[in-house]
Amino acid sequence: MKSIRTKLKLNNKQKTLLAQHAGYSRWVYNWGLSLWNAAYKDGYKPNARKLREVFTNHTKPLYPWMKNLSSRVYQYAFINLGEAFKRFFKGLGKYPKFKKKGRSDSFTIDNSGKLIELDGWSHKLPFIGVVKTYEPIEATTKKITISRQAGDWYLSCSYEFNGITTAKKTDVIGVDLGVKTLATLSDGKVFDSVRSYQKFEAKLSRCQYRNRNKIIGSANYKKAQLKIAKLHRKVANIRRNALHKLTTYLAKNHGSVVIEDLNVSGMLANHKLAKSIADQGFYEFRRQLEYKCQWYGSELVVVDRFFPSSKTCSNCGHVQDMPLNVRTYDCDYCGVSIDRDLNASINLRNAVGLTVNACGRSAADSSGGSRK
Ligand SMILES: [Zn+2]
Repeated sequence: MKSIRTKLKLNNKQKTLLAQHAGYSRWVYNWGLSLWNAAYKDGYKPNARKLREVFTNHTKPLYPWMKNLSSRVYQYAFINLGEAFKRFFKGLGKYPKFKKKGRSDSFTIDNSGKLIELDGWSHKLPFIGVVKTYEPIEATTKKITISRQAGDWYLSCSYEFNGITTAKKTDVIGVDLGVKTLATLSDGKVFDSVRSYQKFEAKLSRCQYRNRNKIIGSANYKKAQLKIAKLHRKVANIRRNALHKLTTYLAKNHGSVVIEDLNVSGMLANHKLAKSIADQGFYEFRRQLEYKCQWYGSELVVVDRFFPSSKTCSNCGHVQDMPLNVRTYDCDYCGVSIDRDLNASINLRNAVGLTVNACGRSAADSSGGSRK
């Protein structure tokens, strides 16, 4: 069993609907808790199931607004209350407290016994309707919990993990992550870079400059801070989307994806490169590729960072110096002339079968079989 938690992208109507459900869940939980306390005082031995019966038959009909909300929510509120008491009786938790509005607003919902399929960027949830997420997710689950944190809503669930194997177009692909381009693949495909920071940087620094004399904590200051935070978020989102597109494409269509183990900290010491690299998000690239290769049943091969992918001729194997500003590899030995990044990506593809560090299976293992 694995679990995911991801942020939801919602319109105002949906936010209201979720807030209503969280409110419903809280209302029922608190109602149950107060009745539990009262019943206990009167010498009864309450439990969540009995309380739910009372609620369903006598209390719910008195509140017509509850009819507009999913009835699964109150079922789970009682389950949660029962579990809170179970934990308390076992000495694992404190005595259950009343829930306060705005603090850990959440509710749980299911599909009345049917499974809920989450796939891609938008998802049909029972009763709630279609919601979008900021990253593509894949899971089949029985129930989901939706919660609010710092004004944002999150979906979380646990699911049984089983990798999906998709038909692969290409057996092995080498990927060169670049500064000028986001990525160059060994089959010649190029993913353009999203210069998100560069594009928004001027705007951002203008914002920050204008904010310099504002009194900290004032209304104007807060307004400007919010604007800056939004710009930062926008930049991050553009970058994440570009990376998701790239990593999904790679994991879905290729049996083995070969990348270089970039010495990011070493490269970040070079200030000119630093910004570009941070902008392209190499760590995030690797993280996404790792879990997506698992999803789609492909293999991620990480080549040792001392492998001279840029300096080696992909045609004849000759090694020559390649300063960063030289964009074309002109081989001194065989005379081939090829784009620098394409040359590097072909070398990475060819590196499978050589001695490399592999993620998961070793590259030596993976060189056998279908590629021979
Ligand atoms: Zn050559």
